[in-house]
Amino acid sequence: MAEENEQRYDPAAIEPKWQLRWAEQKDLYAEEPASCGKPKYYVLEMLPYPSGQLHMGHVRNYSIGDALARHMWMRGYNVLHPMGWDAFGLPAENAALKNRTPPREWTLTNIAAMKRQMERLGLGYDWATEVTTCLPEYYRWNQWFFLRMYEKDLVYRKKSKVNWCPECATVLANEQVVDGCCWRHETTKVDQRDLVQWFLRITAYAEELLDGLDKLDGWPEKVRTMQRNWIGRSEGTEVDFFLEEKESGARDAGPSTPLRSAQDDSAAVRIRVFTTRVDTIFGATSVQLAPQHELVAEFTAADAELRAQVEEMVEQQKQAREAGDLGTIEKHGVPTGRFAVNPYNGASVPIWVANYILADYGTGAIMSVPAHDERDFEFANKYGLPIVQVIQPEDETMAVVLPFVSEDGVLVNSGEYDGLSCTQAQKRLQESAARRAFGEAKTTFRLKDWGVSRQRYWGTPIPMIHCEKCGLVQVPDEQLPVLLPERIEITQQGGSPLGRIPEFVNVNCPKCGGAAKRETDTMDTFVDSSWYFYRYTDAKNAKAPFDSETVKYWFPIDQYIGGVEHAILHLIYSRFWTKVMRDLGLVANDEPATRLFTQGMVIKDGAKMSKSKGNVVSPDEMIAKYGADATRVYSLFAAPPDRDLDWQEDGVAGVSRFLARVWRLTDKYAPLARTAVHGSERFSAVKGTGFSPYSNPANETGALAQEGCSSETAPSGMALELLRKLHQTIAKITLDFEGRWHFNTCVAAIMELVNEIQAADAHLAAGEVPAPALLELLRSLALLLAPFAPHLAAELWEMLGEEGAILRAPWPQSDPELAKEDKLEIPVQINGKLVEVVRVAADADAKAIEEAALAGQKIQLRTAGKTVVKAIVVPGKLVNLVVK
Ligand SMILES: [Zn+2]
Ligand SMILES: [Zn+2]
Repeated sequence: MAEENEQRYDPAAIEPKWQLRWAEQKDLYAEEPASCGKPKYYVLEMLPYPSGQLHMGHVRNYSIGDALARHMWMRGYNVLHPMGWDAFGLPAENAALKNRTPPREWTLTNIAAMKRQMERLGLGYDWATEVTTCLPEYYRWNQWFFLRMYEKDLVYRKKSKVNWCPECATVLANEQVVDGCCWRHETTKVDQRDLVQWFLRITAYAEELLDGLDKLDGWPEKVRTMQRNWIGRSEGTEVDFFLEEKESGARDAGPSTPLRSAQDDSAAVRIRVFTTRVDTIFGATSVQLAPQHELVAEFTAADAELRAQVEEMVEQQKQAREAGDLGTIEKHGVPTGRFAVNPYNGASVPIWVANYILADYGTGAIMSVPAHDERDFEFANKYGLPIVQVIQPEDETMAVVLPFVSEDGVLVNSGEYDGLSCTQAQKRLQESAARRAFGEAKTTFRLKDWGVSRQRYWGTPIPMIHCEKCGLVQVPDEQLPVLLPERIEITQQGGSPLGRIPEFVNVNCPKCGGAAKRETDTMDTFVDSSWYFYRYTDAKNAKAPFDSETVKYWFPIDQYIGGVEHAILHLIYSRFWTKVMRDLGLVANDEPATRLFTQGMVIKDGAKMSKSKGNVVSPDEMIAKYGADATRVYSLFAAPPDRDLDWQEDGVAGVSRFLARVWRLTDKYAPLARTAVHGSERFSAVKGTGFSPYSNPANETGALAQEGCSSETAPSGMALELLRKLHQTIAKITLDFEGRWHFNTCVAAIMELVNEIQAADAHLAAGEVPAPALLELLRSLALLLAPFAPHLAAELWEMLGEEGAILRAPWPQSDPELAKEDKLEIPVQINGKLVEVVRVAADADAKAIEEAALAGQKIQLRTAGKTVVKAIVVPGKLVNLVVK
């Protein structure tokens, strides 16, 4: 049929047409001031790094956020839905090295390309609030925050290890170290060098960051668990063992050493250990140090063999760290030949260096209690260290298998503490340590302070000045921003790139006016993403990072959406930043976001899409073939949003065919449906509220009758069937937006609805469904599709004769009366066993239900020739027939 072929769903025409119109409506996606009186809704997707190309993971992330934003607009909310660019970082420098393109130019070109892609996807962002973190108007506030934190003693410098390539003569980022070698010099081993670096004191908030997680019940449990583990609180005790003087000549190890009193050792060197089980301290048979422990350097100074062994352990730890499996490191150690004295009983125990003790956890030293710790037990057996049991079950007759790690027991072999329970003993031993000044109760955290120094070019310059006379001097606020020099040659040689620009480095000291030097480190890019979402609320502010009142209105973010890979760093740093800003009096909220959603990955052929795997599907290609709407709907339909999505191009094609069916359906019946609105202002007004024209027949009868479309006062027959399906679909999708987010089943429900309407085609063609019902069906279909397929929805809206943006049309409301099924399914049992399910009218009485049950086909078969003694009817639920 030629005529049908002429009229086709053509996303390549429809989508650019609407994108152009939307671009002309400057305030279509704009947030409104607080005075608008609407409830606010801040929906945010994580901002991308401007690599130059969106990938399908982005498309999925943004399709989820955009659907939610559009839905909330239609629900009448004042919506903030912004987008920006996490624009500093190493790839821009690498690209500069490779292509000789300045990082700024490379970055801004990429941003422009990705923005075009976002616009081609039809994403509803308010570009007036766009934030680009590499621009001075943004990063000056990074500097400003840094200074405020410095004033609050939340910024400090300390020596710390960095990766150093001797060939490049520069510091490498962790991602530039490949198998222990430089990424550019594949055979050059990377060294660890000590460098003085800047740190943010995030540990000052460790307790609050941990406790706050309990209140974040709108965050996925797995993210909260990951953060809890990352912060890693342990309650325990710190205890000083005392280093024995090195005695000349060989000596015997072991407990035969005469007891010494701890008090005698007040001048001795102390080795502070951290333990969560101080109750087992009488069972300690060695002290173990991390290879980097400061005492180890002393021990190895005169012992070349030990030094070599320790260096090997340092290397093993580094490799295990890079491979991310420190927990599975093959445990081994070496004795140092030195001894330490247990302050509680004076026992002398050997000091070992062990490769599984970490310098940056606890104190970098532990006591080893093989009888009551799995790891220590394994280690003691390997090296033949003594095993001394000091805890036993309360029930003495119970057989004990070592290691006995339970805290459900009593102390033995522990002098005056014998007989105490583990918990009692811990308390008593802590008190004793504090009284005798060799220890204390201690809560330690795994969380470390945040090292923010980067010896890189493409980042925020740290606003500090080094003056020989005055020391460290802050750059005065009025001199901010410290601008990143734009013309720079990136050579990857000789330390920090900024250090090679004399115009940048040489400066007059703000305090004494003398010659001084600028700090040449730049900030970690996680600084940029720690507070960018506050800036969206007031992106043009040149006097402050944002207006606090505006932030008070919009925060916390109602829904934050992004990948679970950001569960740790970004989401902990931004929580920290929020708390610091709160303590600076800038914001009132404790946490940045009330709800967090982490979408699943997009995978193809069993692996995450990535360039190296060669399984990347380009959004541009999909859009060119099937349209933006089909690509977006597919990314929501193919899997529940929190699960991984296995990309199948067939699926996109299928969605595209479905959208084409919706278009054809509307194209075919819009002329008939539109007769319902012709000349009726009153009908339009009611329509505008989003209520069904049937929800209040008393009011509507007159208007409908005047139209002459139908003489009925309420829908019946096929119209009723279809409207029932419609209102069930509305109810389902509305509920999903309110929290379950099963957008895949939302799309499936719309498909079912369309199937049902299409199946009724003969009835529709015969005019059996009155125009107002038909109009409601088609209007609602467009409205339901609007969050998912905004271009098609806008087109359908226009085809139905509607004016104004569908985005501002009210979300349809489900009429519960209409949605109610008119038939119920009733299970029928014979002697308590289910035999058949029969359908009865929803308002059927007991007698009618019994009749329907007895009329069931299977029931008739089973009761033939028998007697139904009794029929028990539970209306609406069940029929049980007692048959003999
Ligand atoms: Zn190198
Ligand atoms: Zn000075």
